[in-house]
Amino acid sequence: MKKTTGTDRSITSHWRPATQAVRGGTWRSEHGETSEALFLSSGYTYDDAATVAARFAGEAEGMTYSRLQNPTVAMLEERIALMEGAEACRAQASGMAAMTAALLCQLSAGDHVVGARAAFGSCRWLLDSLLPRFGIECSVIDSTDDAAWEAAIRPNTKVFFFETPANPTLDVVDLAHVCGLAKAHGITSVVDNAFATAALQRPMEFGADVVAYSATKLMDGQGRVLAGAICASQQWIEEVLLPFQRNTGPNISPFNAWVVLKGLETLSLRAHRQSENALALGRFIETRVPRILHPGLPSHPRHELAASQMDAFGPIFAFEVADRAQAFALLDALELVDISNNIGDARSLMCHPASTTHAGMTQEDRDAMGVTEGLLRINVGLEDIEDVKEDLVRALKAAGL
Ligand SMILES: *Cc1c(COP(=O)(O)O)cnc(C)c1O
Repeated sequence: MKKTTGTDRSITSHWRPATQAVRGGTWRSEHGETSEALFLSSGYTYDDAATVAARFAGEAEGMTYSRLQNPTVAMLEERIALMEGAEACRAQASGMAAMTAALLCQLSAGDHVVGARAAFGSCRWLLDSLLPRFGIECSVIDSTDDAAWEAAIRPNTKVFFFETPANPTLDVVDLAHVCGLAKAHGITSVVDNAFATAALQRPMEFGADVVAYSATKLMDGQGRVLAGAICASQQWIEEVLLPFQRNTGPNISPFNAWVVLKGLETLSLRAHRQSENALALGRFIETRVPRILHPGLPSHPRHELAASQMDAFGPIFAFEVADRAQAFALLDALELVDISNNIGDARSLMCHPASTTHAGMTQEDRDAMGVTEGLLRINVGLEDIEDVKEDLVRALKAAGL
């Protein structure tokens, strides 16, 4: 394996994002392949015993076992790190593997976490159910209330954990304020950036310590594989994450890493076009639905803030109809848009969060989060937006709107 200029930070750090997305992190075998090679290998062999001993001792570079290193996975990690503006990245098996690892690797019994109330259902489960079982206290707050973050800090607060925009209510968190507050109190901020990705929002520019991903969403972008990633400083990755990751094994398959690597080449194009489509659709249906939650529309309570920290507003928004019956009638009338709980896909997909992604929560928690019975979430894809508009008009009519 030969490392290319794409692995030399003295060169890649000067590359612009579009170049990093296509060339960052590339290694080449002796065949000189143009597209990155897929190394489906769990282990490695060595010329002699001294070589492997030196690698295990950390005295020589080289692979030893795919729970620790894999060339295809290493290419993905370097490319994501470059796009994020992070010193280092480690890929994970899924978004939830990434969130779990990012929290558990740094928390111990007696610690306290402040988390955002509006969040992906499984992220809330980590705070509400998993961490408390291990003696880690969690407070869940309205993440859009800037003062609530400071008020929730306790002497044992170790981590702030939130997503922005949040799934599925599109709550927007003030990154500079919350990450700055964390820094001032010696708290580690962990930002779930799945809805935006580095193509639209780079939380580290606003002071985030750790950026965690479901790469299943926009990074793959074509609905093929589960994947995740954690970006942070080199020191944090080496000293905090790796002891946990190497011994617990939430690693991504090299095959899935390769699929995401290819997805990253087109991420920026897709994320921007899908954002344009989502904004066009949002404007089009705004007057046709009772309530819309879209960070790109002036009607969103934090539209100005979203515009100041995002390059574009992303492919996902939500809107509200009267109740579950009307929401289901609308979904059932769709001809082009699929009923699906995935997001970030090149296809337009719509789902009813209360009965799917957030079905595991109590009604009370859903109410507090704003996940009402009439809430629908849409991921706007790469289709001709006029076709998507026509489908929505037909479905709205069928639902009596
Ligand atoms: C989907 C999602 C996750 C979980 O990712 P998986 O890849 O499905 O495990 C976490 N956070 C957010 C915001 C998500 O949308």
